[in-house]
Amino acid sequence: MIPTLYKSALHPREVRALLKLTLKGQQFTIPKEPLAQLVSKLDDQAFCCAALTKVSRSFAAVIQQLPEDLKNAVCVFYLVLRALDTIEDDMQFPQEEKLKLLRSFHIHTQDENFTLQNVGDHEDYRILLEHYDKVVRFFKSLDDHYREVIVEITKKMGNGMADFAEKKVVTVKDYDLYCHYVAGLVGVGLSDLFSASGLESPDLKERHDLSNSMGLFLQKTNIIRDYHEDLFSDRTFWPEEIWGKYADDLSYFTKNPHDPKSLACLNEMVMNALTHLPDVVDYLRLLKNKSVFRFAAIPQVMAIATLAVVFNNPKTFTGVVKVRKGLAARLILYDLSLEETLKYFKKYSRVFLRKTPKNTDLHKQLSEWAATLNRKIEMPEK
Ligand code: MG
Repeated sequence: MIPTLYKSALHPREVRALLKLTLKGQQFTIPKEPLAQLVSKLDDQAFCCAALTKVSRSFAAVIQQLPEDLKNAVCVFYLVLRALDTIEDDMQFPQEEKLKLLRSFHIHTQDENFTLQNVGDHEDYRILLEHYDKVVRFFKSLDDHYREVIVEITKKMGNGMADFAEKKVVTVKDYDLYCHYVAGLVGVGLSDLFSASGLESPDLKERHDLSNSMGLFLQKTNIIRDYHEDLFSDRTFWPEEIWGKYADDLSYFTKNPHDPKSLACLNEMVMNALTHLPDVVDYLRLLKNKSVFRFAAIPQVMAIATLAVVFNNPKTFTGVVKVRKGLAARLILYDLSLEETLKYFKKYSRVFLRKTPKNTDLHKQLSEWAATLNRKIEMPEK
């Protein structure tokens, strides 16, 4: 089962290259030994840092952008949500027990005796849950205000996942709500953590709408890109309200990748994701701290670059499309500014228009979207 939580906008190959980079003079590497062998060698914090590099495809790389105190809070936040997602994704787990556990996971995250055996479809996820007591102890070492945010978001996400464990994503409203639970809430929680750190204004955490859009833009990008990978798993995330207009079955597209109907469906999915980008611009403009800005902005630039490749591309239906090699490395190595970020958005926004025939509904929608986006981009900095 494919983990869905805040899926990486980066491709694993790109991340491997990235992790070899020397970041700010400090070598950042994935420990070679399996996580299971590190358990007895590392203290709680070091184990959590090692676990983060093992269980996240890209997060470990971008998290290095943050100052120490906030970095620890974000690391714990990620591991707790990764554990929750592992439970959600484990299709062998008896349903009734799973629902109970999802809804109560925020309580277990405060219990130093809590561990789970044999849960998860990936070795590293299973080790994380088998040694979850280490995460709990690291969690307990965090400041109160960070802990409160992590518990609150875990509670909301667990309940949302439990709701969706019993129903499918059918309408666009379901799609938005599911993405809110598994990714929008990550955005909301991160804003809370940024405000709590004092590095960002206390007002940031009040902007739930914009924080939610930050998560939705990434999540939808990944759901679209991973069409083929997810198709053969037990669950799909493309809403039937959209694909049902073009086919009787979601698997039609992989069998007919060049059919104009398949591409029209794909492009509608991309257009739906793009509607969140103007909010992303508004959000990024609110950030004051450079390191927080880079942490927030890098995945967003990767996401629009991914959508630009995926758009109108039959290969999306038959495999994993590749984003330009080295983009992620460049974004991390050269201190990404707001100005450069907006330039990337503008550059990629032109790709969608270029790939769309004029005098079509889609071209009209894209033109209106690009006009809104450009107004936001060209707003003078406060
Ligand atoms: Mg999941």
